[in-house]
Amino acid sequence: MEQPYRTRAVLVPLDPSPTQVQLLRSYCGASRKAFNWTVATVKANLETRADERDAGVPESELTTSISWTPYSMTPLWNSVKDEVAPWHRDVTTHAFRSGVTNASIALKNFDEARKGVRRGGPIGFPKFKDRHSKQSITFTELKRLGNWFSDDSRHVRLILPRFATDPRIVRRRDQLQWLHTTESLRRLKSKVTSGEWSVQSLTISFAGGRWQASFSVRQSVECASKAVQLRGTVVGVDLGVAYLATLSVPIPGLSDANGHVSNPRHLDGELERLAKLNRQLSRCVKGSKNRAKLIRRRQRLYGRITRTRDLYLHRLTTTLAGSFETVVLEDLRVTTMVKKSKDTTTHRLSRSILDAGFFELRRQLTYKTDDRGHRVIVVGSFYPSSKMCSHCGVTRAKLALSDRNFECSDCGVSLDRDVNAARNIHREGLRLLGNEASTVAGHQPETLNADSRERETEPLR
Ligand SMILES: [Zn+2]
Repeated sequence: MEQPYRTRAVLVPLDPSPTQVQLLRSYCGASRKAFNWTVATVKANLETRADERDAGVPESELTTSISWTPYSMTPLWNSVKDEVAPWHRDVTTHAFRSGVTNASIALKNFDEARKGVRRGGPIGFPKFKDRHSKQSITFTELKRLGNWFSDDSRHVRLILPRFATDPRIVRRRDQLQWLHTTESLRRLKSKVTSGEWSVQSLTISFAGGRWQASFSVRQSVECASKAVQLRGTVVGVDLGVAYLATLSVPIPGLSDANGHVSNPRHLDGELERLAKLNRQLSRCVKGSKNRAKLIRRRQRLYGRITRTRDLYLHRLTTTLAGSFETVVLEDLRVTTMVKKSKDTTTHRLSRSILDAGFFELRRQLTYKTDDRGHRVIVVGSFYPSSKMCSHCGVTRAKLALSDRNFECSDCGVSLDRDVNAARNIHREGLRLLGNEASTVAGHQPETLNADSRERETEPLR
Protein backbone atom coordinates (compact mmCIF):
# COMPACT_ATOMS: atom_id res chain seq x y z
CA MET A 1 0.00 0.00 0.00
CA GLU A 2 1.30 3.42 -0.86
CA GLN A 3 1.32 6.25 1.57
CA PRO A 4 1.02 9.71 0.15
CA TYR A 5 2.90 11.22 3.09
CA ARG A 6 5.60 10.27 5.46
CA THR A 7 6.63 11.85 8.72
CA ARG A 8 10.19 12.25 9.83
CA ALA A 9 12.04 14.04 12.59
CA VAL A 10 14.50 16.84 11.99
CA LEU A 11 16.82 17.32 14.96
CA VAL A 12 18.32 20.67 15.80
CA PRO A 13 20.82 21.07 18.67
CA LEU A 14 20.02 24.08 20.86
CA ASP A 15 22.26 26.43 22.77
CA PRO A 16 19.93 28.12 25.29
CA SER A 17 20.98 30.91 27.65
CA PRO A 18 20.97 30.13 31.40
CA THR A 19 17.62 31.94 31.87
CA GLN A 20 16.17 30.04 28.93
CA VAL A 21 17.39 26.78 30.47
CA GLN A 22 15.52 27.68 33.67
CA LEU A 23 12.42 28.42 31.65
CA LEU A 24 12.71 25.17 29.67
CA ARG A 25 13.16 23.21 32.89
CA SER A 26 10.03 24.77 34.34
CA TYR A 27 8.15 23.95 31.12
CA CYS A 28 9.24 20.32 31.34
CA GLY A 29 8.32 20.24 35.03
CA ALA A 30 4.90 21.66 34.21
CA SER A 31 4.40 19.07 31.49
CA ARG A 32 5.33 16.35 33.99
CA LYS A 33 2.92 17.82 36.56
CA ALA A 34 0.03 17.70 34.09
CA PHE A 35 1.02 14.20 32.99
CA ASN A 36 1.04 12.89 36.55
CA TRP A 37 -2.19 14.70 37.39
CA THR A 38 -3.95 13.12 34.39
CA VAL A 39 -2.71 9.63 35.24
CA ALA A 40 -3.63 10.07 38.93
CA THR A 41 -7.12 11.38 38.09
CA VAL A 42 -7.89 8.47 35.79
CA LYS A 43 -6.41 5.99 38.25
CA ALA A 44 -8.53 7.36 41.12
CA ASN A 45 -11.63 7.20 38.95
CA LEU A 46 -10.94 3.58 37.98
CA GLU A 47 -10.30 2.62 41.61
CA THR A 48 -13.47 4.31 42.87
CA ARG A 49 -15.53 2.43 40.29
CA ALA A 50 -13.81 -0.86 41.17
CA ASP A 51 -14.46 -0.31 44.91
CA GLU A 52 -18.11 0.53 44.27
CA ARG A 53 -18.50 -2.59 42.14
CA ASP A 54 -16.99 -4.69 44.94
CA ALA A 55 -19.43 -3.12 47.40
CA GLY A 56 -22.32 -4.24 45.19
CA VAL A 57 -23.36 -0.88 43.77
CA PRO A 58 -25.42 -1.49 40.60
CA GLU A 59 -23.70 -0.60 37.31
CA SER A 60 -26.09 2.28 36.61
CA GLU A 61 -25.27 4.02 39.89
CA LEU A 62 -21.47 3.85 39.67
CA THR A 63 -19.43 7.05 39.62
CA THR A 64 -19.28 8.15 35.97
CA SER A 65 -16.11 7.10 34.19
CA ILE A 66 -13.79 9.76 32.82
CA SER A 67 -13.02 9.94 29.13
CA TRP A 68 -9.25 9.78 28.53
CA THR A 69 -9.11 11.95 25.44
CA PRO A 70 -7.18 15.24 25.58
CA TYR A 71 -10.44 16.98 24.62
CA SER A 72 -12.12 16.01 27.86
CA MET A 73 -9.04 16.01 30.09
CA THR A 74 -7.81 19.50 29.10
CA PRO A 75 -10.94 21.38 30.31
CA LEU A 76 -10.81 19.29 33.48
CA TRP A 77 -7.20 20.33 34.00
CA ASN A 78 -8.06 23.97 33.36
CA SER A 79 -10.72 23.83 36.07
CA VAL A 80 -8.26 22.64 38.72
CA LYS A 81 -4.99 24.24 37.67
CA ASP A 82 -5.33 27.24 40.03
CA GLU A 83 -5.36 24.76 42.86
CA VAL A 84 -2.93 22.10 41.62
CA ALA A 85 -0.42 24.44 39.98
CA PRO A 86 -0.88 27.97 41.34
CA TRP A 87 2.26 29.02 39.46
CA HIS A 88 0.75 28.11 36.09
CA ARG A 89 0.81 31.67 34.74
CA ASP A 90 4.61 31.63 34.58
CA VAL A 91 4.57 28.63 32.26
CA THR A 92 3.16 28.44 28.76
CA THR A 93 -0.18 26.63 28.52
CA HIS A 94 1.41 24.40 25.88
CA ALA A 95 3.48 22.73 28.59
CA PHE A 96 0.34 21.51 30.38
CA ARG A 97 -1.32 20.52 27.13
CA SER A 98 1.78 18.51 26.26
CA GLY A 99 1.59 16.61 29.56
CA VAL A 100 -2.15 15.94 29.34
CA THR A 101 -1.87 14.78 25.72
CA ASN A 102 1.07 12.46 26.43
CA ALA A 103 -0.78 10.93 29.37
CA SER A 104 -3.88 10.43 27.21
CA ILE A 105 -1.81 8.65 24.58
CA ALA A 106 -0.17 6.43 27.22
CA LEU A 107 -3.59 5.58 28.70
CA LYS A 108 -5.02 4.84 25.27
CA ASN A 109 -2.10 2.54 24.44
CA PHE A 110 -2.56 0.74 27.76
CA ASP A 111 -6.30 0.37 27.14
CA GLU A 112 -5.91 -0.89 23.58
CA ALA A 113 -3.20 -3.37 24.59
CA ARG A 114 -5.47 -4.65 27.38
CA LYS A 115 -8.35 -5.13 24.97
CA GLY A 116 -6.04 -6.80 22.48
CA VAL A 117 -6.70 -4.35 19.66
CA ARG A 118 -3.12 -3.09 19.61
CA ARG A 119 -0.17 -4.80 17.96
CA GLY A 120 2.85 -5.60 20.09
CA GLY A 121 3.30 -6.83 23.61
CA PRO A 122 1.38 -5.95 26.77
CA ILE A 123 1.61 -2.38 28.03
CA GLY A 124 1.34 -1.50 31.71
CA PHE A 125 -0.67 1.31 33.24
CA PRO A 126 1.27 4.57 32.74
CA LYS A 127 3.89 5.16 35.43
CA PHE A 128 4.26 8.47 37.21
CA LYS A 129 7.19 10.58 36.07
CA ASP A 130 9.72 12.00 38.51
CA ARG A 131 12.46 14.57 38.08
CA HIS A 132 14.80 11.88 36.77
CA SER A 133 12.50 11.07 33.85
CA LYS A 134 13.36 12.45 30.45
CA GLN A 135 12.68 16.17 30.28
CA SER A 136 10.64 17.10 27.25
CA ILE A 137 7.76 19.22 26.07
CA THR A 138 5.84 18.96 22.82
CA PHE A 139 4.21 21.86 21.01
CA THR A 140 1.30 20.97 18.76
CA GLU A 141 -1.17 23.09 16.79
CA LEU A 142 1.79 24.90 15.32
CA LYS A 143 0.00 26.61 12.45
CA ARG A 144 -1.89 28.86 14.82
CA LEU A 145 1.35 29.97 16.43
CA GLY A 146 2.99 31.44 13.35
CA ASN A 147 6.66 31.52 12.53
CA TRP A 148 9.10 29.13 14.20
CA PHE A 149 12.28 30.24 12.52
CA SER A 150 14.16 33.50 12.89
CA ASP A 151 15.16 35.59 9.88
CA ASP A 152 18.79 34.58 10.24
CA SER A 153 17.85 30.84 10.34
CA ARG A 154 19.85 30.49 13.52
CA HIS A 155 17.09 30.57 16.13
CA VAL A 156 13.98 28.57 17.01
CA ARG A 157 11.11 30.37 18.59
CA LEU A 158 10.37 29.70 22.25
CA ILE A 159 6.76 30.25 23.20
CA LEU A 160 6.58 32.42 26.31
CA PRO A 161 3.77 32.43 28.88
CA ARG A 162 1.31 35.10 27.84
CA PHE A 163 0.23 36.20 31.30
CA ALA A 164 3.53 35.75 33.14
CA THR A 165 3.92 37.40 36.53
CA ASP A 166 7.57 36.46 37.08
CA PRO A 167 9.59 39.69 36.54
CA ARG A 168 12.47 37.68 35.05
CA ILE A 169 10.16 36.73 32.18
CA VAL A 170 8.16 39.96 31.94
CA ARG A 171 11.18 42.20 31.65
CA ARG A 172 13.22 40.07 29.29
CA ARG A 173 10.68 38.80 26.78
CA ASP A 174 12.74 39.93 23.80
CA GLN A 175 15.88 38.13 24.94
CA LEU A 176 14.02 34.98 25.90
CA GLN A 177 11.86 34.31 22.90
CA TRP A 178 14.49 33.00 20.49
CA LEU A 179 16.53 29.86 21.19
CA HIS A 180 19.93 29.88 19.55
CA THR A 181 20.75 26.76 17.50
CA THR A 182 24.25 25.47 16.83
CA GLU A 183 23.31 24.41 13.31
CA SER A 184 21.73 26.47 10.57
CA LEU A 185 18.01 25.99 9.99
CA ARG A 186 18.19 27.26 6.43
CA ARG A 187 17.36 23.96 4.71
CA LEU A 188 14.45 23.17 7.01
CA LYS A 189 13.16 26.71 6.76
CA SER A 190 13.24 26.80 2.96
CA LYS A 191 11.51 23.41 2.71
CA VAL A 192 8.78 24.59 5.04
CA THR A 193 8.40 27.98 3.33
CA SER A 194 8.13 26.35 -0.10
CA GLY A 195 5.43 24.03 1.24
CA GLU A 196 7.42 20.87 0.48
CA TRP A 197 7.49 20.01 4.18
CA SER A 198 4.95 20.88 6.83
CA VAL A 199 5.77 20.96 10.53
CA GLN A 200 3.38 18.81 12.59
CA SER A 201 4.85 19.27 16.04
CA LEU A 202 7.93 20.48 17.83
CA THR A 203 9.47 18.67 20.79
CA ILE A 204 12.10 20.34 22.92
CA SER A 205 13.97 17.94 25.15
CA PHE A 206 17.13 17.39 27.12
CA ALA A 207 18.78 14.34 25.60
CA GLY A 208 22.34 13.11 25.38
CA GLY A 209 23.53 15.90 27.64
CA ARG A 210 22.15 18.76 25.54
CA TRP A 211 18.95 20.58 24.74
CA GLN A 212 17.54 19.86 21.33
CA ALA A 213 14.54 20.67 19.18
CA SER A 214 12.92 17.90 17.17
CA PHE A 215 10.61 19.02 14.39
CA SER A 216 8.18 16.40 13.22
CA VAL A 217 7.76 17.18 9.52
CA ARG A 218 5.48 15.69 6.94
CA GLN A 219 6.63 15.34 3.37
CA SER A 220 5.16 13.80 0.29
CA VAL A 221 6.73 10.52 -0.68
CA GLU A 222 7.70 11.64 -4.20
CA CYS A 223 9.95 14.27 -2.67
CA ALA A 224 11.44 11.68 -0.37
CA SER A 225 12.70 8.93 -2.65
CA LYS A 226 15.78 9.45 -4.70
CA ALA A 227 16.69 7.30 -7.66
CA VAL A 228 19.55 4.97 -6.75
CA GLN A 229 20.99 2.29 -9.00
CA LEU A 230 19.57 -1.10 -8.08
CA ARG A 231 22.40 -3.49 -7.24
CA GLY A 232 20.54 -6.69 -6.59
CA THR A 233 17.40 -8.27 -5.33
CA VAL A 234 18.49 -9.37 -1.87
CA VAL A 235 21.15 -8.41 0.64
CA GLY A 236 21.83 -10.00 4.05
CA VAL A 237 23.02 -7.72 6.83
CA ASP A 238 24.83 -8.90 9.94
CA LEU A 239 25.38 -6.40 12.74
CA GLY A 240 28.49 -6.88 14.77
CA VAL A 241 30.80 -5.53 17.40
CA ALA A 242 33.99 -5.45 15.34
CA TYR A 243 32.25 -3.85 12.37
CA LEU A 244 29.14 -1.70 12.17
CA ALA A 245 27.69 -4.24 9.75
CA THR A 246 28.66 -6.92 7.28
CA LEU A 247 26.83 -7.16 3.95
CA SER A 248 26.44 -10.35 1.93
CA VAL A 249 26.84 -8.25 -1.22
CA PRO A 250 29.73 -5.78 -0.97
CA ILE A 251 29.02 -2.20 -2.07
CA PRO A 252 32.09 -0.30 -3.25
CA GLY A 253 32.50 2.95 -1.35
CA LEU A 254 30.35 1.79 1.52
CA SER A 255 31.95 -1.52 2.46
CA ASP A 256 35.26 -3.22 1.74
CA ALA A 257 35.54 -6.17 -0.67
CA ASN A 258 34.39 -8.60 2.06
CA GLY A 259 31.26 -6.58 2.77
CA HIS A 260 32.51 -5.14 6.07
CA VAL A 261 31.19 -1.67 6.86
CA SER A 262 33.58 -0.18 9.38
CA ASN A 263 32.52 1.44 12.62
CA PRO A 264 32.61 5.22 12.96
CA ARG A 265 36.16 6.42 13.47
CA HIS A 266 36.89 7.51 17.04
CA LEU A 267 34.28 5.03 18.34
CA ASP A 268 36.86 2.85 20.09
CA GLY A 269 38.46 5.87 21.72
CA GLU A 270 35.12 7.20 22.86
CA LEU A 271 34.07 3.83 24.26
CA GLU A 272 37.29 3.68 26.23
CA ARG A 273 36.65 7.16 27.57
CA LEU A 274 33.14 6.07 28.52
CA ALA A 275 34.48 3.02 30.34
CA LYS A 276 36.97 5.23 32.18
CA LEU A 277 34.20 7.64 33.19
CA ASN A 278 32.17 4.74 34.51
CA ARG A 279 35.11 3.58 36.62
CA GLN A 280 35.60 7.09 37.99
CA LEU A 281 31.89 7.34 38.75
CA SER A 282 31.86 4.10 40.69
CA ARG A 283 34.51 5.54 43.00
CA CYS A 284 32.64 8.82 43.57
CA VAL A 285 30.76 9.69 46.73
CA LYS A 286 27.02 9.70 46.10
CA GLY A 287 25.54 13.18 46.02
CA SER A 288 28.91 14.86 45.57
CA LYS A 289 29.44 17.73 43.16
CA ASN A 290 32.16 15.84 41.38
CA ARG A 291 29.81 12.96 40.73
CA ALA A 292 27.17 15.28 39.27
CA LYS A 293 29.83 16.75 37.01
CA LEU A 294 30.95 13.32 35.81
CA ILE A 295 27.36 12.27 35.19
CA ARG A 296 26.82 15.31 32.98
CA ARG A 297 30.01 14.53 31.13
CA ARG A 298 28.93 10.93 30.61
CA GLN A 299 25.52 12.06 29.29
CA ARG A 300 27.21 14.29 26.74
CA LEU A 301 29.66 11.59 25.68
CA TYR A 302 26.90 9.01 25.38
CA GLY A 303 24.85 11.48 23.32
CA ARG A 304 27.79 12.10 21.02
CA ILE A 305 28.41 8.38 20.50
CA THR A 306 24.74 7.73 19.73
CA ARG A 307 24.52 10.63 17.31
CA THR A 308 27.67 9.60 15.45
CA ARG A 309 26.43 6.05 15.18
CA ASP A 310 22.99 7.15 13.95
CA LEU A 311 24.61 9.31 11.29
CA TYR A 312 26.59 6.29 10.05
CA LEU A 313 23.47 4.15 10.17
CA HIS A 314 21.63 6.69 8.00
CA ARG A 315 24.32 6.49 5.34
CA LEU A 316 24.14 2.69 5.45
CA THR A 317 20.34 2.41 5.43
CA THR A 318 19.83 4.94 2.63
CA THR A 319 22.15 2.97 0.36
CA LEU A 320 20.73 -0.42 1.34
CA ALA A 321 17.10 0.65 0.95
CA GLY A 322 17.81 2.16 -2.46
CA SER A 323 20.11 -0.54 -3.84
CA PHE A 324 18.20 -3.72 -3.00
CA GLU A 325 14.61 -4.86 -3.33
CA THR A 326 14.80 -6.85 -0.11
CA VAL A 327 17.04 -6.23 2.88
CA VAL A 328 17.33 -9.17 5.27
CA LEU A 329 18.21 -8.59 8.91
CA GLU A 330 18.62 -10.93 11.79
CA ASP A 331 16.49 -10.31 14.83
CA LEU A 332 18.22 -9.03 17.92
CA ARG A 333 20.19 -11.76 19.62
CA VAL A 334 19.23 -11.56 23.25
CA THR A 335 21.58 -14.39 24.02
CA THR A 336 24.50 -14.76 26.35
CA MET A 337 26.71 -14.96 23.31
CA VAL A 338 29.29 -12.86 25.09
CA LYS A 339 30.80 -14.90 27.87
CA LYS A 340 31.07 -13.12 31.18
CA SER A 341 34.77 -13.88 31.67
CA LYS A 342 35.77 -12.27 28.39
CA ASP A 343 33.31 -9.48 28.81
CA THR A 344 35.37 -6.34 29.35
CA THR A 345 33.62 -3.08 30.12
CA THR A 346 34.44 -1.62 26.72
CA HIS A 347 33.13 -4.71 25.03
CA ARG A 348 29.93 -4.65 27.06
CA LEU A 349 29.43 -0.99 26.17
CA SER A 350 29.93 -1.56 22.46
CA ARG A 351 27.53 -4.46 22.76
CA SER A 352 24.81 -2.30 24.32
CA ILE A 353 25.32 0.34 21.65
CA LEU A 354 25.06 -2.39 19.02
CA ASP A 355 21.77 -3.56 20.52
CA ALA A 356 20.36 -0.04 20.46
CA GLY A 357 21.72 0.29 16.92
CA PHE A 358 19.67 -2.68 15.81
CA PHE A 359 16.37 -0.94 16.58
CA GLU A 360 17.54 2.25 14.94
CA LEU A 361 18.74 0.36 11.84
CA ARG A 362 15.46 -1.49 11.58
CA ARG A 363 13.44 1.70 12.08
CA GLN A 364 15.38 3.59 9.42
CA LEU A 365 15.31 0.70 6.96
CA THR A 366 11.58 0.19 7.42
CA TYR A 367 10.60 3.69 6.41
CA LYS A 368 13.27 4.04 3.75
CA THR A 369 12.36 0.78 2.01
CA ASP A 370 8.66 1.69 2.28
CA ASP A 371 9.31 4.91 0.37
CA ARG A 372 10.94 3.02 -2.47
CA GLY A 373 8.52 0.12 -2.65
CA HIS A 374 11.21 -2.19 -1.30
CA ARG A 375 11.07 -4.20 1.90
CA VAL A 376 12.77 -5.51 5.02
CA ILE A 377 12.68 -9.12 6.17
CA VAL A 378 13.69 -9.96 9.72
CA VAL A 379 14.98 -13.48 10.30
CA GLY A 380 14.05 -14.99 13.67
CA SER A 381 16.65 -14.90 16.43
CA PHE A 382 16.60 -18.70 16.66
CA TYR A 383 18.19 -18.93 13.22
CA PRO A 384 21.78 -20.20 13.68
CA SER A 385 23.37 -17.66 11.35
CA SER A 386 26.77 -17.67 12.99
CA LYS A 387 26.97 -21.41 13.66
CA MET A 388 25.98 -22.66 10.22
CA CYS A 389 28.28 -23.11 7.25
CA SER A 390 27.08 -20.78 4.52
CA HIS A 391 28.62 -23.08 1.91
CA CYS A 392 27.36 -26.57 2.76
CA GLY A 393 24.77 -25.86 5.43
CA VAL A 394 26.27 -28.00 8.21
CA THR A 395 25.66 -26.56 11.67
CA ARG A 396 28.62 -26.44 14.03
CA ALA A 397 27.95 -26.84 17.73
CA LYS A 398 29.81 -23.83 18.97
CA LEU A 399 31.78 -20.86 17.82
CA ALA A 400 33.54 -18.78 20.43
CA LEU A 401 33.24 -15.04 19.98
CA SER A 402 37.02 -14.79 19.90
CA ASP A 403 37.08 -16.95 16.74
CA ARG A 404 37.18 -14.43 13.95
CA ASN A 405 37.06 -17.23 11.40
CA PHE A 406 34.43 -19.79 10.64
CA GLU A 407 35.95 -23.09 9.61
CA CYS A 408 33.81 -25.91 8.33
CA SER A 409 34.99 -29.43 9.05
CA ASP A 410 32.69 -30.87 6.39
CA CYS A 411 33.47 -28.90 3.25
CA GLY A 412 36.65 -27.21 4.48
CA VAL A 413 35.47 -23.69 3.86
CA SER A 414 37.22 -20.93 5.81
CA LEU A 415 35.44 -17.61 6.10
CA ASP A 416 35.30 -14.53 8.24
CA ARG A 417 32.61 -15.19 10.84
CA ASP A 418 30.60 -12.04 10.02
CA VAL A 419 30.76 -12.72 6.27
CA ASN A 420 29.53 -16.26 6.94
CA ALA A 421 26.66 -14.92 9.05
CA ALA A 422 25.69 -12.28 6.47
CA ARG A 423 25.53 -14.96 3.76
CA ASN A 424 23.39 -17.21 5.94
CA ILE A 425 21.02 -14.34 6.62
CA HIS A 426 20.93 -13.62 2.89
CA ARG A 427 20.09 -17.25 2.13
CA GLU A 428 17.43 -17.45 4.83
CA GLY A 429 15.90 -14.29 3.37
CA LEU A 430 15.75 -15.91 -0.06
CA ARG A 431 14.13 -19.00 1.43
CA LEU A 432 11.55 -16.86 3.20
CA LEU A 433 10.89 -15.09 -0.07
CA GLY A 434 10.13 -18.49 -1.54
CA ASN A 435 12.81 -18.56 -4.19
CA GLU A 436 15.47 -20.62 -2.52
CA ALA A 437 16.68 -21.94 -5.85
CA SER A 438 17.83 -18.64 -7.26
CA THR A 439 21.48 -17.79 -6.89
CA VAL A 440 22.92 -14.35 -6.62
CA ALA A 441 26.16 -13.09 -8.04
CA GLY A 442 28.89 -12.59 -5.48
CA HIS A 443 27.36 -15.20 -3.24
CA GLN A 444 30.18 -17.74 -3.40
CA PRO A 445 32.72 -18.18 -0.62
CA GLU A 446 36.11 -16.83 -1.67
CA THR A 447 38.23 -19.46 0.08
CA LEU A 448 37.65 -23.08 -0.75
CA ASN A 449 40.16 -25.54 0.54
CA ALA A 450 38.79 -28.62 -1.14
CA ASP A 451 37.28 -29.61 -4.49
CA SER A 452 36.93 -26.08 -5.69
CA ARG A 453 37.76 -27.01 -9.31
CA GLU A 454 34.70 -29.19 -9.70
CA ARG A 455 32.43 -26.30 -8.99
CA GLU A 456 33.64 -24.12 -11.84
CA THR A 457 31.61 -23.83 -14.98
CA GLU A 458 33.02 -25.38 -18.14
CA PRO A 459 33.98 -22.80 -20.76
CA LEU A 460 31.68 -22.65 -23.77
CA ARG A 461 32.88 -24.39 -26.90
ZN1 LIG B 1 30.69 -26.41 5.09
